[in-house]
Amino acid sequence: MMETIGLFGGTFDPIHLGHLRAAAEVRRRARLDRVLFIPSYLPPHKKTGAVASAADRLRMVELACSGRAGFEASPIEVEAREKSYSILTLRKLRALSPGARLFFILGVDAFLDIGAWREYHRVLEQCFFIVMGRPGFELDRARDVLGGKLRDSVGPLETGEGAAGLLPPQTRVFLLPIRALDISSTAIREMIRLGKSLDGLVPGSVAAYIRKHQLYRGR
Ligand code: ATP
Ligand code: MG
Repeated sequence: MMETIGLFGGTFDPIHLGHLRAAAEVRRRARLDRVLFIPSYLPPHKKTGAVASAADRLRMVELACSGRAGFEASPIEVEAREKSYSILTLRKLRALSPGARLFFILGVDAFLDIGAWREYHRVLEQCFFIVMGRPGFELDRARDVLGGKLRDSVGPLETGEGAAGLLPPQTRVFLLPIRALDISSTAIREMIRLGKSLDGLVPGSVAAYIRKHQLYRGR
């Protein structure tokens, strides 16, 4: 059986239950064997840089994944210590798992930026995408960002056989409506500044790490 791996990249500044819940639903519905959470070293598509260090963001992702079956933290971008480009990460992961079927997992808000990605045509050629809904963003807008022929590569994910099975030959980008939680890292950083509780927003281990290292307190 071909292995199926989800690649879930992000700033994860910090990782929160919205990420974890969404990835769990995608993993279950697409029947992915595992999901790699890949914190970026520096976010190439964001004007504002990360607030916590790459090492802290990776550590929080590790804490969040530990004990959650099928979830793994990948240090591949943080350890590269250079701007993170999906195409480079993909090539490295492809070399590590040559027989696997790879799926980039991302929220529709992130997918709407794909035109700014380095060599995004190549990225689309070399792996599949699963685009998840997110509160405030219409999932169908994912169709509008791809022009010309690429538009025909967007379709629904039929969850019968899962991602290891036969996929529609044209489809590279699968739209997956999920029951996303309305949580963002931006909102969490703001709550920390206001001294509010993170209960129900991040795993307990992540809340403890944030407290112990006094992250997100300034500004
Ligand atoms: P920020 O507010 O700093 O942008 P964020 O919560 O959007 O943080 P990111 O690290 O930017 O988190 O997102 C990483 C990936 O997770 C993106 O593909 C994004 O669309 C997705 N994502 C983030 N939050 C959610 C959520 N609540 N539900 C579904 N997907 C999410
Ligand atoms: Mg974001």
